[in-house]
Amino acid sequence: MDKVQRTEAQWREMLTPDEYQVLREAGTEAPWAGEYTNTKVEGVYRCRACGAELFRSGEKFESHCGWPSFYQPASGDAVELIEDRSLGAVRTEVRCERCGSHLGHVFEGEGYPVPTDQRWCINSISLTLEPAAGLRVIRAGETSGDTAQTPGMTRAAAISGAQVGARSLWMGTRRR
Ligand SMILES: [Zn+2]
Repeated sequence: MDKVQRTEAQWREMLTPDEYQVLREAGTEAPWAGEYTNTKVEGVYRCRACGAELFRSGEKFESHCGWPSFYQPASGDAVELIEDRSLGAVRTEVRCERCGSHLGHVFEGEGYPVPTDQRWCINSISLTLEPAAGLRVIRAGETSGDTAQTPGMTRAAAISGAQVGARSLWMGTRRR
């Protein structure tokens, strides 16, 4: 994989101040504040700084820790691990292998019911979710089965809810 190398001045130009603070200065966003903490949308999470594929929705789990949590990265060489001795404890920092940007930390042996017993605790602001192709978010109260339960109506009529239009379509068919 080709490494992405930019000067800090270039990163500052590309990223918002909040993104820069986490990605380039190893900051941490406030818990429960990130946009992907509870997201269950199917897709791929890419590095906000360089676009590299880092995590997948299928390996995201509910850790209730306030940050998006995954039990493993998309691939072992997508990330780089660094021993972090800040805050008076030894933690393992996770960085993007491709551009060196800070993503979060990985913790092990916490007892979460996941295959790896690992929690990759990643800042939302370090990621960009790319939803799976053809996916749309279904609004509350909307069910995908509604249109299929209306025999005789065209799909377009059922979706628009145009009862009159549907009836004249039906009568038009009868007259023939
Ligand atoms: Zn990156």
